[in-house]
Amino acid sequence: MEKLANYIDGKLVPPTSGEYIDNYNPSKGEVFSLIPKSDSSDVDAAYAAAAEAFPGWSNSSNDERSRILFRISALLEEHLEEFAEAESLDNGKPLWLARQVDIPRAISNFRFFSQAATQFASESHAMQDKAINYTLRDPIGVVGCISPWNLPLYLFTWKIAPALATGNCVVAKPSEVTPYTAYKLSEICQKAGLPAGVLNIVHGLGPEVGAAIVVHPKIKAVSFTGGTQTGEWIARTAAPMFKKLSLELGGKNPTIVFGDCDMKKTLKEVFRTAFANQGQICLCGSRLFVQKSIYTEFKNAFIEIVKNQKVGPPRDSDSKLGAVVSKGHMVKVLSYIDLAKEEGGTILCGGEQLHMSAPYDKGYYIAPTVVEGLSHTCRTNQEEIFGPVITITPFETEEEVLEMANSTEYGLAASVWTENLSRAHRMAKKLESGIVWINCWLLRDLRTPFGGVKSSGVGREGGFEAMKFFTEPKNVCIQYGD
Ligand code: NDP
Repeated sequence: MEKLANYIDGKLVPPTSGEYIDNYNPSKGEVFSLIPKSDSSDVDAAYAAAAEAFPGWSNSSNDERSRILFRISALLEEHLEEFAEAESLDNGKPLWLARQVDIPRAISNFRFFSQAATQFASESHAMQDKAINYTLRDPIGVVGCISPWNLPLYLFTWKIAPALATGNCVVAKPSEVTPYTAYKLSEICQKAGLPAGVLNIVHGLGPEVGAAIVVHPKIKAVSFTGGTQTGEWIARTAAPMFKKLSLELGGKNPTIVFGDCDMKKTLKEVFRTAFANQGQICLCGSRLFVQKSIYTEFKNAFIEIVKNQKVGPPRDSDSKLGAVVSKGHMVKVLSYIDLAKEEGGTILCGGEQLHMSAPYDKGYYIAPTVVEGLSHTCRTNQEEIFGPVITITPFETEEEVLEMANSTEYGLAASVWTENLSRAHRMAKKLESGIVWINCWLLRDLRTPFGGVKSSGVGREGGFEAMKFFTEPKNVCIQYGD
């Protein structure tokens, strides 16, 4: 069985403990590789390598860093198919999705930030004819990057690329649930000539390796994407150490469909909004609100679409949904379907685990589920489920839907579907959300600020926001006149 390795000081090395964790293929419910069960001693070794590499990397020219990051992106592109297969195998997502979204986006992340390295500049503030201020932006030092399992390489590289572009050295931890493409990235970094120690990837459990990064006294910043509960622990632990933190956390996103929407387009897109990647995208809309004037018509057409989508093995090109990521997660999602029923909801479609024929008979499949008839304040409508389960609720007015949409502790993303321009602007302004899409969803420009409000996070990623996070500003003021 393949044994993954940590990537420390430019080398692929076993964990100091010598122990490994089983890595499952969710489409078959079978172990297919072994993950290093690292601990704080591996994080210490990764830190030491990163600290040693820092002077050289931070003093290299922007151009040199840009060229190396670009080479990583080009090599990833050369190996796109191999990475897509690895991601689908590890995560359970349809192969076509990994091929069209996950890996192309990881390639773009490195390409985008390789260019950003040569474009990033800082401010200067002139004080009439008296003095001038200029701001230096220096890399922070050794930083930690911790990422989740839903978009494994996509989110891992979204953090690492800007950290490296700005001259930091990194100790990174992918989710232990989906470590495979991060491991394969180590090999790409070696081929691309990334100097030893600049990027270190330590595999293992969150409360062991992730926590060791968070509490490490010399790792000065942590960029984290994951659940709100984990984010809260990280915030509580890192705050007294005055670490810089970027936290991208959970969501319970509203999808708001008005009577004046473009019905055909909206129906098609709302399916994606709800169920892309088995509903396991932090930006997925899990609460669908539809205006009463079109509620019945929209609901019936939508349920017809959902019922006709194939859930199946990730390698089948016609599988719209694959497997959810793990047995534990499947059990959690199914328990929320039970909760929805207990809370008085009616299951309009789905509502159950699906069983495939061999060799996929032990895989973790759930039918896309739509629940009607729940109050917007119940647990099903307030807690993050992070699976192929959504609720549908009618509304009458903008005020009413805003009240329901803004009623959760989360505020990551929202989508609004309307042909009325003024209404679109009003809604965008009043939604408590870091991101609002109008008549689209998941349309991303990597220059834009990305992140959430309320319990969905602190700080923003993307473009120069990320470059700013990974640098420390220093103002220099020079007086030259009286
Ligand atoms: P978790 O919070 O469980 O884990 C995220 C990462 O943190 C994993 O690498 C995990 O390791 C690690 N981790 C776990 N415990 C600790 C700890 N005590 N200290 C440091 N690191 C730790 O989230 P999931 O992986 O379950 O991801 C799903 C969540 O991520 C959802 O809530 C989703 O909304 C959110 N998310 C947010 C996004 C955003 O941009 N706002 C984007 C994508 C997802 P391990 O897996 O090995 O335990």
